[in-house]
Amino acid sequence: MQDEFDVIIIGSGAGGAPVAHTLAKAGKSVLILEKGPLLLPQSEDERGLSDFKRDELFATGTEKRITIPNVANQGDSYYSSHVEPDLNDEPHVYLDDNAQDRATIEGYTAQVIGGGTQLYGAVSLRFTSTDFELGSFNQDRTDIAEDPNDDVRREAQDWPISYADLEPYYSKAEMLIGINGTRANQAKDFSVDNYQQPYPPNPISQYVEVGMDALSLPRYRTPLAVITQDHAPSGRQVENSPTDPAKTAYVNRYGDPMVYKSNTWVSLLSPIKDLENLDIRCNCNVMSIENQGSKISRVVYRDPSGKPITVQAKVLVVACSAIESVRLLQLSAQLNADFSSRINSNDLLGKYFLTHCFGGAETVMPDRFDKSIALDSDWATDAFASDDFIKSNGLWAGGAVYNNTSDQALPLSLVRTHGSHDLDSIWDGFVEQSNLRGNELLKLFDRDFGTRLSVSFMANQLPQKNNRIELHPTVVDKWGRPCAYIIKEWHTHDKYLMDTLAKKCRDILAFGGDGGIGNYPVEGFGSVANDRSRIANHILGGARFGDNPASSVLDANCRVWGFDNLYLTDGSFMPTSGSANPTLTIQANAFRVADKILEVL
Ligand SMILES: Cc1cc2nc3c(=O)[nH]c(=O)nc-3n(C[C@H](O)[C@H](O)[C@H](O)COP(=O)(O)OP(=O)(O)OC[C@H]3O[C@@H](n4cnc5c(N)ncnc54)[C@H](O)[C@@H]3O)c2cc1C
Repeated sequence: MQDEFDVIIIGSGAGGAPVAHTLAKAGKSVLILEKGPLLLPQSEDERGLSDFKRDELFATGTEKRITIPNVANQGDSYYSSHVEPDLNDEPHVYLDDNAQDRATIEGYTAQVIGGGTQLYGAVSLRFTSTDFELGSFNQDRTDIAEDPNDDVRREAQDWPISYADLEPYYSKAEMLIGINGTRANQAKDFSVDNYQQPYPPNPISQYVEVGMDALSLPRYRTPLAVITQDHAPSGRQVENSPTDPAKTAYVNRYGDPMVYKSNTWVSLLSPIKDLENLDIRCNCNVMSIENQGSKISRVVYRDPSGKPITVQAKVLVVACSAIESVRLLQLSAQLNADFSSRINSNDLLGKYFLTHCFGGAETVMPDRFDKSIALDSDWATDAFASDDFIKSNGLWAGGAVYNNTSDQALPLSLVRTHGSHDLDSIWDGFVEQSNLRGNELLKLFDRDFGTRLSVSFMANQLPQKNNRIELHPTVVDKWGRPCAYIIKEWHTHDKYLMDTLAKKCRDILAFGGDGGIGNYPVEGFGSVANDRSRIANHILGGARFGDNPASSVLDANCRVWGFDNLYLTDGSFMPTSGSANPTLTIQANAFRVADKILEVL
């Protein structure tokens, strides 16, 4: 088996696959090491059967108990799925509000080829140009609310690249990945429009459409990484019947048995899988990285049988998703003092861990709709990411707002997700709501499945040095290695920002706010401000990039300071989390870094 390559890429998700795609197509020998399995869509399986069940978080076995010592939720029950690690085998641990450690599956995306893009909601907005320069934007301001210690002006960072630098790569990502949406009314410059035509909106979204118009919010069709037409770059075809085209509905949290959701397997890797210079090794867990001076010399992984294998390359790209990438570097540093002194020279690895401020408003609409005839989101607005809005509300940064039609309405997981607030409590419906039987269950299906509508925001979280990923001092994985320890809390300004945007979401749902043209009762609105465990599946920061080796872990090309040939391309590079869901930006940046790597290979 070949053991030397031009490039080794660890992880095949949003950060890894664009690099592999670019470098393999350029003729470089590329090895992808992916911890999870390859799950195939119907069209790629000989029997026409997909490995996805449309219920990826469904339990793969019987109820289990957490047996991890010294965690507050030891003894709690849980179920594991076929796309996540077993909680007892490889937990993440987070520090809860009572200063107790809890084991959690939060902070994993999906452990399969394609990573988180196999399960993601596919919302694929670009960041705004202000998102790239929040340091400069806030530097002279004196009007920032709920920031008693002046943290915003101290911690807000400019990116070392501008929107203009990334713009060609946004366009490239949109073309190669396959995204539908509309460009008019977006507050971002586009050099080219690569969007596919969206489906007609689901009729339930009319309430949001009217609400946004009542508030004079410029709206556009939410860009979603789902193809609606044949997609030449990946060779995917949409089965079209003029009266009843085949569609993928219920995108969020599901693997797609067809090839319509543009995960990185079907869009970027499957089209090049037959290249002789590309080697994809699944079920291979990278355990450590070794160096000789400033060069990464070896990568050690366990093959599917558990056997340790060593490989080497001119360039190593780590893209395990931010928490696990930081952990892999920290574990490698534990084994080697020189590696440690290089990676920890400024003590910033793992620091400034980020997710998003998020939340929204939801309600039950008067009519029942067939949600399966459209995707999860129809309308988005950039109105709350404009400089005017940010400043007039005393905010440090803005957020995107878009509607969801599928909240608590996902077909098979309906009862399991009802009332849940994170992946660990996904079973609350069964465990705690024993009334959900018979007619009550039918009512729940009828009401939530067809009538529930929400408007959400996704906004920048203030970077804080204390929000960090460490190696846990006592909890170890099944191989005896320290697990990732997630320590984070919301800033007072995060809470203020979330309250501000949650009210705006409520106003949209209420057709123009209290006394507005519709004034429809909103069932609930709010944010995750009181929930420390929430990560929004957006796992960012911890190895931020910058121009200065004293204040960043990566240089502007995402190469680790102190190493010549080590790059990080997952969400860990972000110094601020952006005013939208992150994956398109991770992909665009990975395409950019791939071009930089080509220059040095
Ligand atoms: C339910 C859900 C909904 C989401 N919805 C959206 C959305 O609508 N829009 C959006 O922008 N984002 C969304 N996200 C987030 C999105 O999935 C992530 O932002 C994105 O996948 C992150 O890319 P990444 O490269 O950092 O990590 P990933 O895509 O997760 O890839 C990391 C890969 O590395 C592998 N890996 C980890 N450790 C190792 C190791 N030691 N050895 C080998 N391989 C390893 C993992 O198995 C995984 O395949 C969602 C996520 C989830 C789970």
